[in-house]
Amino acid sequence: MKRIQRTAGAVVGSAVGDALGGPFEFGAPGAFSARFPAPGAGGEMSGGGGWDPGEGTDDTQMAVLVAESLLERGGLDLPDIFARFQRWAASAPKDIGLQTEDVLTNGRPWDLAAASHFQVNRRAAGNGSLMRASTSAVHFAAAGQEATMDAARRIAALTHGDRAAWEGTAIFHELVRVTLEGTDPLTALPHVLTLVHPDHRDRYATVLAPDWHPDRATEVNGAVWPCLGSAVWALRTTTTFEEAIRAAIDLGGDTDTVAAVTGGLAGAYHGLDAIPARWTRPLHVPLPGFDGRVLRLPDLVHLADRLGAGPSTGQA
Ligand SMILES: [Mg+2]
Repeated sequence: MKRIQRTAGAVVGSAVGDALGGPFEFGAPGAFSARFPAPGAGGEMSGGGGWDPGEGTDDTQMAVLVAESLLERGGLDLPDIFARFQRWAASAPKDIGLQTEDVLTNGRPWDLAAASHFQVNRRAAGNGSLMRASTSAVHFAAAGQEATMDAARRIAALTHGDRAAWEGTAIFHELVRVTLEGTDPLTALPHVLTLVHPDHRDRYATVLAPDWHPDRATEVNGAVWPCLGSAVWALRTTTTFEEAIRAAIDLGGDTDTVAAVTGGLAGAYHGLDAIPARWTRPLHVPLPGFDGRVLRLPDLVHLADRLGAGPSTGQA
């Protein structure tokens, strides 16, 4: 499979999962299958819960903001990403994570906002940095294992003060990197776990174990550990992109984000052509605060293509 199939698969797959899962957010397990019993029947990109059919939620909107910063700034410019997040947050997006909103609006500078939120609240291991990582994962993959995991941690830290969120995002970045290389991410997992910060390794080893099931989660899937574990479980226990997304949304809870993370992995693994066209056709990603722009499939594929070239050399 050509690399562009996998890079576009990751970016578009994540957006598709997000848009399909959005209307089912905080719903009951099995709600997706109850409404759409037959895989392949169509009509799944239905909208609902305030979302139009095919509309990308905050997960994809923030992923695009990161992507455009990386491309326009020619590399990782953390204050610029933070400023774009703030501009977006101030423009009434339909949805925004509670923790993310607080960090982006608490008036602290980019390098202190998340840390001070964490100091006060002590709970910052939401899945809100993992959910938006498909674009940065595609971009930094070309720079290698250390660089992509480092970038993941630093972008995550913009909004999440808890290292658990950084490590989960770093694992996702590395899984996407090896998948783009044509390696099965599931076989890479034991090695990837050795790259996780020692304080956080055991907890990720638990949710990423081959016999782990989302029923065994000790937190809701809005937390980073079961969210990543569920996405890997959905990839492991299915054989097509469509089945993986169905499995992810059927878990209930934070369905848009679990499906976005699943879609990033499954899209990289199965490739863009494995994503049903009836799901990509209505796909659109509004960018509140950015001149009313709305990205569609060709825009996302173009974005993935440019991101896939990797960071420019010699960046600061
Ligand atoms: Mg969302």
